[in-house]
Amino acid sequence: MSVQRSSQNRRGGFVGAPKAPSNASSPKETLLRATGLQRAIVVALEERNSDWEESLQELVALADTAGAGAAGIFTQKRESPDPQYFLGKGRAHELRQAVIEAGADLVLVDGELTSGQQNHLEQVTEVAVVDRTGLILDIFAQHAHTNEGKLQVELAQLTYRLPRLVGRGKELSRLGGGIGTRGPGETKLESDRRRIRKRIGLLNKQVEKLSKQRALQRRSRWQAQMPVACLVGYTNSGKSTLFNALCHADVLVEDRLFATLDPTIRRLELPGGRHILLSDTVGFIRNLPHQLIAAFHATLEEVQEAEILVHVMDAASPNLMAQREAAERALAELDCATKPTLLVYNKADQVKNLEAIERMAARETHAVVISALRGWKLDSLSARLARLLEEGLVEVSSLLPLSSADLVSLAHERGEVLSEDYLPEGIRLHARVPADLAARIRAIAADEETAVEAKNS
Ligand code: GDP
Ligand code: MG
Repeated sequence: MSVQRSSQNRRGGFVGAPKAPSNASSPKETLLRATGLQRAIVVALEERNSDWEESLQELVALADTAGAGAAGIFTQKRESPDPQYFLGKGRAHELRQAVIEAGADLVLVDGELTSGQQNHLEQVTEVAVVDRTGLILDIFAQHAHTNEGKLQVELAQLTYRLPRLVGRGKELSRLGGGIGTRGPGETKLESDRRRIRKRIGLLNKQVEKLSKQRALQRRSRWQAQMPVACLVGYTNSGKSTLFNALCHADVLVEDRLFATLDPTIRRLELPGGRHILLSDTVGFIRNLPHQLIAAFHATLEEVQEAEILVHVMDAASPNLMAQREAAERALAELDCATKPTLLVYNKADQVKNLEAIERMAARETHAVVISALRGWKLDSLSARLARLLEEGLVEVSSLLPLSSADLVSLAHERGEVLSEDYLPEGIRLHARVPADLAARIRAIAADEETAVEAKNS
């Protein structure tokens, strides 16, 4: 779905969706039952020097993911939100009219609402009002499959809702189900704050426990001794499609944002015979509310542990650069900006000016132009991955204690052994290995060499 630029007037614009066949014969309920979709009016402030249009476009895509169609766009030229109504008070009342005209049952606001603003807007419009964070949380709630995912979503939702709880219990039930009300369940939300706080405390402990378990899991993967490559990138760029195409894996692919919430891992053989573990991750979005980054930290830890990153981009998107930057900002926040990264310009089959994209890719150290969907150029992607892995190898030449033969076999599996000599004083190993393994080898070798020196002196 694309957002049309609203017909402008001084106060902002409103673009109605294609009208429902007839208001009389097709009341809102029938329409909803027929489509299973909520109809949303999407609200934004046209702030000067801001990327409000792109942000709005993303919100519409997110709404689509959450199962709500944009029945109209409603904007106002304003430099900052009204403390009471987000929009100006007059404009807020016009919003009520737009809601009625479009037969909408939901208002989505591109921004963060205070509980006061949300309450006021709900009173004026008489439909549920959900802000950006609420919408993203709803998507997370719909797509969390694992225990960990569900826990984190519930935790984030409760934390988000706690300060907004005052006096909203009844209204929420009145407004019925749908976006903004899914997840932990309304009965829980209607109970008192103390119980919610207690639940948050409990969830926090469970998340902590899970995060320890994940550390163990990572170690066991580490013991499997294969480098990990993570698919990262802006949401909907084609990560899961590429993951499937490369690993022939049966991962859920949807034309919906965030189809992948839980990390999924498969083994992949690269040209030259070396194996890596490929991990499909949840996508980044621009302006991801900070509290959500924290809630999904465990999902992103995967990325921090990875040896290489495969940054997938939708080269056919008009927002290619903005999306790339958003992903790179997120990676920088994870301290992953300098990790060896393969840039993947995906959806080449949809690109209008392929030459321009290819020129762009040619300027990068490691980049490929592919179509994950059509399976174009996947071979060259694999070859690039192998090369990137190769370049990440560090040369070590060390004397290891005889007891650390396991490090030698690791060097065989994860890198390239140039020579190994079993001497009375230890194993003399000359190899090219990944940086982390090199550090381990050097640490042990240093001890050993100091010990040998001490014996000799
Ligand atoms: P993710 O959110 O990054 O995992 O993205 P998905 O893999 O779920 O893909 C999002 C949408 O883009 C799906 O509808 C895919 O079919 C589509 N898609 C992925 N790769 C390509 C491609 O190379 N060409 C085209 N035309 N569509 C693609
Ligand atoms: Mg995905």
